[in-house]
Amino acid sequence: MTEISPSHPRYRSLRTRQLLAEAARDGVVVPEGLLAHGRAEAFDYFLGERTTPSAARAERTAAAWLFHARHPIVSVNGNVAALAAPQIAALAAALPKLRVEVNLFHRTPGRAERIARLLRSAGISPVLGVHPDVRLPGLPSDRAWVDRRGIARADVCLVPLEDGDRTQALRARGVRVISIDLNPMSRTSRTADLPIIDELGRALARIDREVRRPPRSTPVRFVPFDRATALSSAVRAMELRLRRAAKGGSGRVRVVGRPVRGTERPNRRAGGTKRSRRRSPHR
Ligand code: ATP
Repeated sequence: MTEISPSHPRYRSLRTRQLLAEAARDGVVVPEGLLAHGRAEAFDYFLGERTTPSAARAERTAAAWLFHARHPIVSVNGNVAALAAPQIAALAAALPKLRVEVNLFHRTPGRAERIARLLRSAGISPVLGVHPDVRLPGLPSDRAWVDRRGIARADVCLVPLEDGDRTQALRARGVRVISIDLNPMSRTSRTADLPIIDELGRALARIDREVRRPPRSTPVRFVPFDRATALSSAVRAMELRLRRAAKGGSGRVRVVGRPVRGTERPNRRAGGTKRSRRRSPHR
Protein backbone atom coordinates (compact mmCIF):
# COMPACT_ATOMS: atom_id res chain seq x y z
CA MET A 1 0.00 0.00 0.00
CA THR A 2 1.31 3.48 -0.85
CA GLU A 3 2.62 5.32 2.20
CA ILE A 4 1.05 8.78 2.41
CA SER A 5 3.03 11.38 4.28
CA PRO A 6 1.03 13.21 6.98
CA SER A 7 2.62 16.41 5.68
CA HIS A 8 0.83 16.02 2.34
CA PRO A 9 -1.64 18.92 2.02
CA ARG A 10 -4.44 16.49 1.13
CA TYR A 11 -3.42 13.87 3.70
CA ARG A 12 -6.84 13.38 5.28
CA SER A 13 -8.61 13.08 1.99
CA LEU A 14 -6.03 10.63 0.62
CA ARG A 15 -6.13 8.54 3.81
CA THR A 16 -9.91 8.34 3.62
CA ARG A 17 -9.73 7.17 0.03
CA GLN A 18 -7.16 4.57 1.02
CA LEU A 19 -9.41 3.36 3.85
CA LEU A 20 -12.38 3.03 1.52
CA ALA A 21 -10.36 1.28 -1.20
CA GLU A 22 -9.14 -1.22 1.41
CA ALA A 23 -12.70 -1.74 2.65
CA ALA A 24 -13.78 -2.33 -0.95
CA ARG A 25 -11.12 -5.00 -1.35
CA ASP A 26 -12.39 -6.60 1.90
CA GLY A 27 -15.95 -6.70 0.55
CA VAL A 28 -17.31 -4.18 3.06
CA VAL A 29 -17.74 -1.31 0.59
CA VAL A 30 -19.21 -1.84 -2.88
CA PRO A 31 -17.87 -0.01 -5.97
CA GLU A 32 -21.05 2.10 -5.98
CA GLY A 33 -20.08 3.27 -2.48
CA LEU A 34 -16.76 4.56 -3.82
CA LEU A 35 -18.63 6.60 -6.42
CA ALA A 36 -20.95 8.01 -3.76
CA HIS A 37 -17.89 9.05 -1.75
CA GLY A 38 -16.46 10.84 -4.79
CA ARG A 39 -19.62 12.89 -5.09
CA ALA A 40 -19.48 13.74 -1.39
CA GLU A 41 -15.86 14.86 -1.69
CA ALA A 42 -16.86 17.37 -4.36
CA PHE A 43 -19.57 18.84 -2.15
CA ASP A 44 -17.21 18.98 0.81
CA TYR A 45 -14.67 20.81 -1.33
CA PHE A 46 -17.33 23.41 -2.16
CA LEU A 47 -18.10 23.74 1.55
CA GLY A 48 -14.45 24.27 2.43
CA GLU A 49 -14.19 20.92 4.25
CA ARG A 50 -15.52 22.37 7.48
CA THR A 51 -18.69 22.50 9.49
CA THR A 52 -20.83 25.53 8.75
CA PRO A 53 -22.64 27.28 11.61
CA SER A 54 -25.91 26.02 10.15
CA ALA A 55 -24.70 22.39 10.15
CA ALA A 56 -23.49 22.82 13.73
CA ARG A 57 -27.01 23.91 14.70
CA ALA A 58 -28.45 20.86 12.95
CA GLU A 59 -26.00 18.61 14.80
CA ARG A 60 -27.01 20.13 18.15
CA THR A 61 -30.67 19.53 17.38
CA ALA A 62 -29.93 16.00 16.17
CA ALA A 63 -28.23 15.22 19.49
CA ALA A 64 -31.28 16.52 21.37
CA TRP A 65 -33.67 14.45 19.23
CA LEU A 66 -31.62 11.29 19.77
CA PHE A 67 -31.41 12.05 23.48
CA HIS A 68 -35.19 12.48 23.80
CA ALA A 69 -36.13 9.54 21.55
CA ARG A 70 -37.57 6.37 23.07
CA HIS A 71 -36.03 4.05 20.48
CA PRO A 72 -33.27 5.89 18.63
CA ILE A 73 -31.38 3.99 15.97
CA VAL A 74 -28.49 4.56 13.61
CA SER A 75 -28.60 2.80 10.27
CA VAL A 76 -25.18 1.68 9.01
CA ASN A 77 -24.11 0.82 5.47
CA GLY A 78 -20.70 -0.25 4.15
CA ASN A 79 -19.25 3.26 3.75
CA VAL A 80 -20.37 4.28 7.24
CA ALA A 81 -18.85 1.15 8.79
CA ALA A 82 -15.58 1.62 6.91
CA LEU A 83 -15.26 5.31 7.72
CA ALA A 84 -16.80 5.68 11.14
CA ALA A 85 -17.18 2.42 13.13
CA PRO A 86 -15.29 3.87 16.15
CA GLN A 87 -17.40 7.08 16.12
CA ILE A 88 -20.63 5.04 15.97
CA ALA A 89 -19.33 2.94 18.87
CA ALA A 90 -18.54 6.09 20.88
CA LEU A 91 -22.02 7.49 20.21
CA ALA A 92 -23.66 4.21 21.24
CA ALA A 93 -21.58 4.22 24.43
CA ALA A 94 -22.66 7.78 25.22
CA LEU A 95 -26.33 6.94 24.58
CA PRO A 96 -26.90 3.32 25.64
CA LYS A 97 -30.47 3.21 24.28
CA LEU A 98 -29.15 3.91 20.76
CA ARG A 99 -29.36 0.78 18.61
CA VAL A 100 -27.08 0.13 15.64
CA GLU A 101 -28.46 -1.68 12.60
CA VAL A 102 -26.82 -2.77 9.36
CA ASN A 103 -28.99 -1.75 6.42
CA LEU A 104 -27.83 -2.28 2.86
CA PHE A 105 -28.95 -1.46 -0.66
CA HIS A 106 -26.49 -4.06 -2.03
CA ARG A 107 -27.19 -6.85 0.47
CA THR A 108 -25.66 -10.29 0.59
CA PRO A 109 -25.57 -12.32 3.82
CA GLY A 110 -21.75 -12.37 3.66
CA ARG A 111 -21.44 -8.61 3.28
CA ALA A 112 -23.90 -7.92 6.10
CA GLU A 113 -21.87 -10.23 8.36
CA ARG A 114 -18.55 -8.58 7.39
CA ILE A 115 -19.96 -5.15 8.23
CA ALA A 116 -21.37 -6.45 11.52
CA ARG A 117 -17.98 -7.93 12.38
CA LEU A 118 -16.33 -4.57 11.79
CA LEU A 119 -18.87 -2.87 14.06
CA ARG A 120 -18.50 -5.52 16.78
CA SER A 121 -14.73 -5.18 16.69
CA ALA A 122 -15.21 -1.45 17.34
CA GLY A 123 -17.10 -2.43 20.51
CA ILE A 124 -20.74 -2.24 19.37
CA SER A 125 -23.13 -4.80 20.81
CA PRO A 126 -25.69 -5.82 19.76
CA VAL A 127 -25.39 -5.22 16.03
CA LEU A 128 -28.83 -5.59 14.47
CA GLY A 129 -29.82 -6.15 10.85
CA VAL A 130 -27.68 -9.18 10.02
CA HIS A 131 -30.78 -11.38 9.97
CA PRO A 132 -33.56 -8.88 9.25
CA ASP A 133 -37.07 -10.19 9.78
CA VAL A 134 -39.47 -7.44 8.65
CA ARG A 135 -39.95 -5.60 5.33
CA LEU A 136 -40.81 -1.90 5.25
CA PRO A 137 -43.78 -1.49 2.90
CA GLY A 138 -43.39 0.52 -0.28
CA LEU A 139 -39.68 -0.08 -0.82
CA PRO A 140 -38.61 -2.32 -3.69
CA SER A 141 -34.90 -2.56 -2.70
CA ASP A 142 -33.21 -4.72 -0.08
CA ARG A 143 -33.10 -1.60 2.10
CA ALA A 144 -36.66 -2.62 3.01
CA TRP A 145 -35.31 -5.51 5.11
CA VAL A 146 -35.10 -4.36 8.74
CA ASP A 147 -34.91 -5.80 12.24
CA ARG A 148 -38.05 -5.84 14.38
CA ARG A 149 -35.95 -4.90 17.44
CA GLY A 150 -34.35 -2.00 15.57
CA ILE A 151 -35.51 0.16 12.66
CA ALA A 152 -38.99 -1.48 12.71
CA ARG A 153 -39.72 0.00 16.15
CA ALA A 154 -37.60 3.18 16.03
CA ASP A 155 -39.07 6.63 16.63
CA VAL A 156 -35.92 8.54 15.61
CA CYS A 157 -33.60 7.19 12.94
CA LEU A 158 -30.16 8.59 12.10
CA VAL A 159 -29.44 7.69 8.49
CA PRO A 160 -25.97 8.68 7.32
CA LEU A 161 -25.30 8.45 3.55
CA GLU A 162 -28.79 7.30 2.77
CA ASP A 163 -30.95 7.02 -0.31
CA GLY A 164 -34.06 9.12 -0.65
CA ASP A 165 -36.51 6.23 -1.07
CA ARG A 166 -35.91 4.78 2.35
CA THR A 167 -35.95 8.18 4.00
CA GLN A 168 -39.41 8.62 2.51
CA ALA A 169 -40.50 5.13 3.60
CA LEU A 170 -39.35 5.78 7.17
CA ARG A 171 -41.12 9.11 7.33
CA ALA A 172 -44.28 7.48 6.03
CA ARG A 173 -44.15 5.26 9.14
CA GLY A 174 -43.99 8.33 11.37
CA VAL A 175 -40.27 7.95 12.15
CA ARG A 176 -38.30 11.17 12.60
CA VAL A 177 -35.40 10.98 10.17
CA ILE A 178 -32.05 12.69 10.72
CA SER A 179 -29.80 12.45 7.66
CA ILE A 180 -26.11 13.14 7.17
CA ASP A 181 -25.37 13.88 3.54
CA LEU A 182 -23.06 16.48 2.03
CA ASN A 183 -25.38 16.93 -0.92
CA PRO A 184 -28.05 19.50 0.01
CA MET A 185 -29.89 18.68 -3.22
CA SER A 186 -30.21 14.92 -2.71
CA ARG A 187 -33.67 13.48 -2.18
CA THR A 188 -32.49 12.33 1.22
CA SER A 189 -31.56 15.84 2.37
CA ARG A 190 -34.76 17.23 0.91
CA THR A 191 -36.92 14.55 2.55
CA ALA A 192 -35.36 14.12 6.00
CA ASP A 193 -36.93 15.93 8.96
CA LEU A 194 -33.48 17.06 10.03
CA PRO A 195 -30.89 17.11 7.24
CA ILE A 196 -27.28 17.58 8.35
CA ILE A 197 -25.19 18.88 5.47
CA ASP A 198 -21.77 17.96 6.71
CA GLU A 199 -19.11 15.29 6.35
CA LEU A 200 -19.89 12.06 8.21
CA GLY A 201 -16.94 12.09 10.64
CA ARG A 202 -17.30 15.76 11.52
CA ALA A 203 -21.05 15.40 12.02
CA LEU A 204 -20.77 12.31 14.23
CA ALA A 205 -18.03 13.89 16.36
CA ARG A 206 -20.18 16.93 17.02
CA ILE A 207 -23.36 14.93 17.73
CA ASP A 208 -21.36 12.78 20.14
CA ARG A 209 -20.02 15.84 21.95
CA GLU A 210 -23.52 17.30 22.25
CA VAL A 211 -25.07 14.05 23.49
CA ARG A 212 -22.52 13.96 26.32
CA ARG A 213 -23.48 17.43 27.58
CA PRO A 214 -25.90 17.58 30.52
CA PRO A 215 -29.43 17.51 29.06
CA ARG A 216 -31.21 20.83 28.74
CA SER A 217 -34.86 20.71 29.62
CA THR A 218 -37.12 21.92 26.84
CA PRO A 219 -40.88 22.49 26.89
CA VAL A 220 -41.22 20.10 23.93
CA ARG A 221 -39.66 16.69 23.46
CA PHE A 222 -38.50 17.36 19.91
CA VAL A 223 -37.51 20.96 19.29
CA PRO A 224 -38.67 21.98 15.81
CA PHE A 225 -36.11 22.17 13.02
CA ASP A 226 -36.25 24.45 10.01
CA ARG A 227 -35.20 22.15 7.18
CA ALA A 228 -35.67 24.68 4.37
CA THR A 229 -33.36 27.21 6.01
CA ALA A 230 -30.73 24.55 6.73
CA LEU A 231 -30.72 23.42 3.09
CA SER A 232 -30.58 26.90 1.65
CA SER A 233 -27.77 28.01 3.95
CA ALA A 234 -25.70 25.00 2.86
CA VAL A 235 -26.27 25.89 -0.78
CA ARG A 236 -25.42 29.55 -0.04
CA ALA A 237 -22.18 28.55 1.73
CA MET A 238 -21.15 26.58 -1.37
CA GLU A 239 -22.26 29.36 -3.69
CA LEU A 240 -20.18 31.91 -1.77
CA ARG A 241 -17.02 29.87 -2.07
CA LEU A 242 -17.64 29.23 -5.76
CA ARG A 243 -18.20 32.93 -6.39
CA ARG A 244 -14.95 33.80 -4.64
CA ALA A 245 -13.11 31.13 -6.61
CA ALA A 246 -14.65 32.50 -9.83
CA LYS A 247 -13.25 35.93 -8.98
CA GLY A 248 -9.78 34.42 -9.02
CA GLY A 249 -9.36 33.52 -5.37
CA SER A 250 -8.64 29.97 -4.34
CA GLY A 251 -12.11 29.78 -2.84
CA ARG A 252 -10.38 28.65 0.35
CA VAL A 253 -12.02 31.27 2.49
CA ARG A 254 -14.30 31.29 5.45
CA VAL A 255 -17.84 30.12 4.88
CA VAL A 256 -20.82 32.30 5.77
CA GLY A 257 -21.53 33.28 9.34
CA ARG A 258 -19.35 33.03 12.37
CA PRO A 259 -16.83 30.18 12.28
CA VAL A 260 -17.57 27.10 14.28
CA ARG A 261 -14.94 26.67 16.95
CA GLY A 262 -12.48 23.92 16.09
CA THR A 263 -13.25 23.87 12.38
CA GLU A 264 -11.71 27.19 11.40
CA ARG A 265 -8.37 27.05 9.64
CA PRO A 266 -6.24 30.10 8.88
CA ASN A 267 -5.49 30.40 5.22
CA ARG A 268 -3.00 33.03 4.29
CA ARG A 269 -3.19 32.28 0.57
CA ALA A 270 -6.84 33.27 0.64
CA GLY A 271 -5.94 36.66 2.03
CA GLY A 272 -6.06 36.15 5.82
CA THR A 273 -8.81 37.62 7.91
CA LYS A 274 -11.58 39.89 6.70
CA ARG A 275 -9.99 42.88 8.47
CA SER A 276 -6.53 42.27 6.98
CA ARG A 277 -8.11 41.91 3.53
CA ARG A 278 -9.84 45.25 3.95
CA ARG A 279 -6.50 46.88 4.72
CA SER A 280 -4.75 45.27 1.77
CA PRO A 281 -4.07 47.74 -1.07
CA HIS A 282 -4.02 44.85 -3.55
CA ARG A 283 -7.70 44.02 -3.20
P1 ATP B 1 -30.90 10.38 -3.04
O1 ATP B 1 -31.74 9.18 -3.29
O2 ATP B 1 -31.00 10.92 -1.66
O3 ATP B 1 -30.94 11.47 -4.10
P2 ATP B 1 -28.52 9.20 -4.01
O4 ATP B 1 -29.12 7.97 -4.57
O5 ATP B 1 -28.00 10.25 -4.91
O6 ATP B 1 -29.44 9.85 -2.95
P3 ATP B 1 -26.42 7.70 -2.88
O7 ATP B 1 -25.87 7.31 -4.20
O8 ATP B 1 -27.00 6.64 -2.02
O9 ATP B 1 -27.43 8.86 -2.95
O10 ATP B 1 -25.25 8.48 -2.14
C1 ATP B 1 -25.26 8.78 -0.83
C2 ATP B 1 -25.04 10.23 -0.52
O11 ATP B 1 -24.13 10.23 0.55
C3 ATP B 1 -24.43 11.11 -1.62
O12 ATP B 1 -25.31 12.19 -1.87
C4 ATP B 1 -23.13 11.64 -1.03
O13 ATP B 1 -23.03 13.04 -1.19
C5 ATP B 1 -23.29 11.34 0.45
N1 ATP B 1 -22.02 10.97 1.11
C6 ATP B 1 -21.14 10.00 0.74
N2 ATP B 1 -20.08 9.98 1.57
C7 ATP B 1 -20.28 10.95 2.50
C8 ATP B 1 -19.57 11.40 3.64
N3 ATP B 1 -18.40 10.85 4.00
N4 ATP B 1 -20.11 12.41 4.39
C9 ATP B 1 -21.30 12.95 4.05
N5 ATP B 1 -22.02 12.60 2.97
C10 ATP B 1 -21.54 11.59 2.20
